[in-house]
Amino acid sequence: MTIYPASPDNIRDFHSICPTAGQGQGDGEPLVASIVQSTTYCREGVGSAAAHQYSRVSNPTVGALERALGALENALPALAFGSGLGAESCLFQSELRAGDHVVCGSGLYGGTTRLLEQVLSRFGVETTFVDSTRLDEVRAAVRPTTRLVFVETPSNPCLQVTDVRAIAEIAHAAGALFAVDNTFLTPVLQQPLDLGADVSVVSTTKFVEGHSAALGGALVTRDSSLHERLSFVRKCTGGIQAPLQAWLTLQGLKTLPLRLERQSATAARLAAWLQDLPDVARVNYPGLHGGAERALCKAQHLGANGAVLSFELAGGYERACRFVASLHAFRLVEHVGSVESLVTHSASMTHAGVAPDQRAATGVSDGLLRLSVGLESPDRLLADLAQAVVASNTVPSGSASEVSV
Ligand code: PLP
Repeated sequence: MTIYPASPDNIRDFHSICPTAGQGQGDGEPLVASIVQSTTYCREGVGSAAAHQYSRVSNPTVGALERALGALENALPALAFGSGLGAESCLFQSELRAGDHVVCGSGLYGGTTRLLEQVLSRFGVETTFVDSTRLDEVRAAVRPTTRLVFVETPSNPCLQVTDVRAIAEIAHAAGALFAVDNTFLTPVLQQPLDLGADVSVVSTTKFVEGHSAALGGALVTRDSSLHERLSFVRKCTGGIQAPLQAWLTLQGLKTLPLRLERQSATAARLAAWLQDLPDVARVNYPGLHGGAERALCKAQHLGANGAVLSFELAGGYERACRFVASLHAFRLVEHVGSVESLVTHSASMTHAGVAPDQRAATGVSDGLLRLSVGLESPDRLLADLAQAVVASNTVPSGSASEVSV
């Protein structure tokens, strides 16, 4: 099978790479990877080596996705998992032992916080959460037992941008492994391994698959011994992605650059528009406020800043609830990255499992709303936000808020 070659020359041309990445182009090969559902594979005789033995270890369809995701980062074939958290679990189980310490950016997906605080802690792994945009905080948190530094950038849901190159230096000086959750930007808009990370983590459930039809996660590295350790733990713990989900993800990947281009452009427009509204207390979007963060976005992101933004309406929780109820073009879900526009109330949804004081400290207020911008017409989305700003400003008669005044 001929694999689409990944080289430093073509790695940036994602529009050309994604439609065929990981899939065959040899004589008679299917243009679109086949879905191989078989759990197991025949051997010619005892002791014969087969390309695949058992689908908990490897599978041809999953392999096609893994080659594609690896090629996008000029790396070894990725390791695909049943979910983003499945990928993170494998990384933690592979690289951490009792007594080890993790330094983790505090602005991240609530499920990652929960995994580290409520599960890994039971196995003797301690985590210190820091504001990863403040290098002095990261430096101060590192201990002799620190084995892993983990950040998500842009952060979730406040979209702060962490300097990946600088954190890589801190982590490596401490002898720790450095992992970046690249779910929001994907390899198309950010290349963590080029910026110094040892492993990039992506929940493919989000933008990579892009159609809200398949859960998945992946770990990508250029380090062959790390790859071997991760493969071993995945085989032992059984977290590999199912073939149909891998196939759906591969289908989604083909249009990822096009979707991100359009969705990011619309998100940037909506963020700039929201920022000018007197009713909006704060808008979070990478680089929106200029200064050092904008320069960092330029240095670190590949031409766009993603399709997720968040904002806080004056009026707090109750106004936010009325705003969501007034929207027509955004679906209220616990998700980002799909072709449809989505809205999330982070405090009660993605970050419900995070302690209220930790939520407050990381900017996840009760009035914060996160938008994942889809493929719809930008004018329609803007008009919908505009009418919801007006509608949410009026307290319905007889409502609890009006009665209490
Ligand atoms: N990382 C980020 C940034 C996420 O937003 C999520 C899920 O929302 C995850 C990881 C976990 O991914 P999954 O839902 O595929 O387990």
